[in-house]
Amino acid sequence: MVLADLGNKITAALSNVTRANVIDDKVVDDMLKEICNALVASDVSVGLVVKLRKNIKMAVNIQEMAAGLNQRKIIQKAVFDELCNLLDPGKKAYQPKKGKPNVIMFVGLQGAGKTTTVSKMANYYKRKGFNPCVVCADTYRAGAFDQLRQNATKIKVPFYGSYTEADAVKISQEGVELFKKEGKDLIIVDTSGRHKQEAGLFLEMQQIAEAVKPDNIIFVMDGSIGQAAFDQASAFKKQVAVGSVIITKLDGHAKGGGALSAVAATESPIVFLGTGEHMDDLDSFDAQSFVQKLLG
Ligand code: GDP
Repeated sequence: MVLADLGNKITAALSNVTRANVIDDKVVDDMLKEICNALVASDVSVGLVVKLRKNIKMAVNIQEMAAGLNQRKIIQKAVFDELCNLLDPGKKAYQPKKGKPNVIMFVGLQGAGKTTTVSKMANYYKRKGFNPCVVCADTYRAGAFDQLRQNATKIKVPFYGSYTEADAVKISQEGVELFKKEGKDLIIVDTSGRHKQEAGLFLEMQQIAEAVKPDNIIFVMDGSIGQAAFDQASAFKKQVAVGSVIITKLDGHAKGGGALSAVAATESPIVFLGTGEHMDDLDSFDAQSFVQKLLG
């Protein structure tokens, strides 16, 4: 189920409550069943859906609800709050600050959209008056160097990388040092992603993190990934200090729900959503407005 359909299903479940003459346990249970089915069909992790259901049930205790209270409003608010909770780890995302070199490292599996998103983010902050630059520490995927360099040229930001050097740790360290000396205030390091969570990938990731001491590590996840998302995101979090999440490919037919589980798995907020292949296809993310939009 794509995200727009998920929103429609949840809205429909809430309308059934609004229309019901009497609100009793059955009405609430039916609504919860519909909402939970829709979330699971969108690939939100089953464990999270069970938790959400329990929390809404607790917030909406029909027996204990004082007479005269607006039950419908309370139910709507409980659903809204729990959907927000699903997307809000209760932690503020790292915000790059001007006047200092903010070092950001990107991690994620190959094909997740890291290289594209590195460039999009550099473009985003350039518009905000930053002096961004990018470092290609992906020495594994043939083409990563050219791809990032071409994007950097397109958005007119400095690029550092090497065709011949295979040591990604060395490249990232050299690139970050050079750009720091040049006074750049946003240095984004693109690392390599492999197909699976091989030990080699994690070791290299940790070594790069040790070498460049990033202010933030951003985990990039493909929005079309299914129930495997939670475990995959957890695996990354166990290896490096992921601080934020970006979910890509939410244009098209991505279900999205799987990737949304990355928030719980990494205990990190989503900072951007990728909505296309172009440099401008990046939306900054706020849990409340996302849920508001989802529910129409
Ligand atoms: P990496 O291996 O993680 O660096 O992934 P890439 O940045 O090379 O992206 C893999 C593919 O996904 C490329 O064809 C990108 O153009 C595409 N891509 C990345 N982000 C998005 C997005 O938000 N929407 C769409 N439709 N495609 C994307």
